[in-house]
Amino acid sequence: MKKCNNCYKIYYRKELKKNLNVCPNCGLHNQLSAWERIDSLFDQDTFEEWDQSMTSSNPLSFPDYEEKIEKDRKKTGLNEGVVTGKGLIDGQATAFAVMDAGFRMGSMGSVIGEKIARAIENAKNESLPFIIFTASGGARMQEGVLSLMQMTKASVAISRFSEAGGLMISVMTHPTTGGVSASFASVGDYNFAEPGALIGFAGRRIIEQTIREELPDDFQTAEFLMKHGQLDKVVHRHDMKHLLKTLLEMHAKGGVGK
Ligand SMILES: [Zn+2]
Repeated sequence: MKKCNNCYKIYYRKELKKNLNVCPNCGLHNQLSAWERIDSLFDQDTFEEWDQSMTSSNPLSFPDYEEKIEKDRKKTGLNEGVVTGKGLIDGQATAFAVMDAGFRMGSMGSVIGEKIARAIENAKNESLPFIIFTASGGARMQEGVLSLMQMTKASVAISRFSEAGGLMISVMTHPTTGGVSASFASVGDYNFAEPGALIGFAGRRIIEQTIREELPDDFQTAEFLMKHGQLDKVVHRHDMKHLLKTLLEMHAKGGVGK
């Protein structure tokens, strides 16, 4: 059983799962794991995973980092906080990267940056579009400046991909914050978000203290960003597959991303 954090209605976990973790009563979009998301979008048995075995080292010898990684590996069944690969969405081929907020809170370490950059390179070489689902608590502090460098690495890969005519779709999910929001999450040809997703660079309190002003209640939500022209659409999870399929089909016909 699980109680909705928003409307407090109680559900069987199975019921919630069937509804893609969206509360049937109030529509709250609970997080999906990377594989749950991939399963919800891609045609069965059509995806191929890339760089599955790539793992983090501990470049700064940060205390307890390896243990923390190991714990999250067991918890999520992933080697790192992003799954990349290619597959078919309703028959339309695309490359993808899906981040998982359950792994080190989706914090961006070197492996995440490297896997995303490689996935974009592969998409370019195979003339595939690229779809990214972001979920991130920000930089991974245990990797210091190496973590910050991932923003540049991924952004350069996107820029090359874009120059080659590639189509990139970004979908920001809850939460997409810090360096990820400030770099590759926001530079798609289409930028979407899930309802209610927290999206922003710095935390609310830090901004309020800096500008000495109170911020509106809906500040840093997907809906707030949409209202201020920072997003193309807020997309309900149940409509996502159809929208992505439509866009992929449209661009395939027009020759973009091919
Ligand atoms: Zn609810």
